[in-house]
Amino acid sequence: MNYPYVTEFRHSLVEWFNAEKRDLPWRHTTDPYKIWVSEVMLQQTRVDTVIPYYNRFMESFPTLDLLAEAPQDYLLKHWEGLGYYSRVRNLQAGAREVLENYGGVVPDNRHEISKLKGVGPYTAGAILSIAYNKPEHAVDGNVMRVLSRVLNINEDIAVPKTKKIFEAAVEELIDPTNASSFNQGLMELGALICTPTSPKCLLCPVREYCTAFNEGEPEKLPVKSKKMKMKHLSYNILVCQDEQGRFLMEQRPEEGLLAKLWQFPMIDTTSQITEESFLKECFINVQARHELLSFKHVFSHLTWHINSYYMKCKSSSTGDWFTQEQIEQLPMPVPMLKIWEEVKNNK
Ligand code: SF4
Repeated sequence: MNYPYVTEFRHSLVEWFNAEKRDLPWRHTTDPYKIWVSEVMLQQTRVDTVIPYYNRFMESFPTLDLLAEAPQDYLLKHWEGLGYYSRVRNLQAGAREVLENYGGVVPDNRHEISKLKGVGPYTAGAILSIAYNKPEHAVDGNVMRVLSRVLNINEDIAVPKTKKIFEAAVEELIDPTNASSFNQGLMELGALICTPTSPKCLLCPVREYCTAFNEGEPEKLPVKSKKMKMKHLSYNILVCQDEQGRFLMEQRPEEGLLAKLWQFPMIDTTSQITEESFLKECFINVQARHELLSFKHVFSHLTWHINSYYMKCKSSSTGDWFTQEQIEQLPMPVPMLKIWEEVKNNK
């Protein structure tokens, strides 16, 4: 890296962050466990969305021991609506590893912390720098955008190995005595000032040292090749209620998308199993049926097109039937919560 403004850049960034940082709940602590939870929640999720989840999570699991011991359904309930549920399962597995292998203390070096379940290079660096003030890189999309502009890096950020270039750049730039403020400053700058479109360069504390600003076209960076093609799936969702008022539910498989969450039965409209054959197999006799909601739910590379139906049924001995109170305790993905709200409103 041939960048002449290392000292000035560090100083301006750290000073700006300390003066302008947003007041966020996880910025009131240096407890590595709490920083870890916040960083995991913030992956792929907006800050505004995370705040109430983080506060509720900390009320229920204020220490790593309590998280490690939590029953999985209770834990998933705290994540309900945040998506990417493997994050919280890995978090719990990681907390258990800390208890078993490190006496309950989150490791303070990259070698050990990176062995924990779900802790990748970014999360490791974020915990080490924010909780322990260690000069370690923590490169996410915001950081890559800021540094691609400041240092004029033209490599495609959609290619995984490009990240290494940015990690090396942070290693050279990072302020060794203010690693926490430096890394958080880069992230904050990307979130508030150096945004993907229309960066607010005139408000930027590092404008003087920014190559893209000086060359006049910051929006051309970072270079990012096209996204993966979106896959579309279509489902009929059946909300079956028996004579006792109970609802038929099913648990998703142990692995994969939304693993182990609960849902109303989903019929893939392209599969061999039709609504009729499903009902027959479950010995469900439908007495009345009406349409509920039709909507689409978008995941990162997948869209579900959903039609949902309410069915009044004659009781069946097969399957998992739950009362309303029991359903309220089950962790469910967002599309199911939406349908469940509609069912309760229609009562
Ligand atoms: S000057 Fe503009 S492009 Fe450069 S870091 Fe600041 S906001 Fe980003």
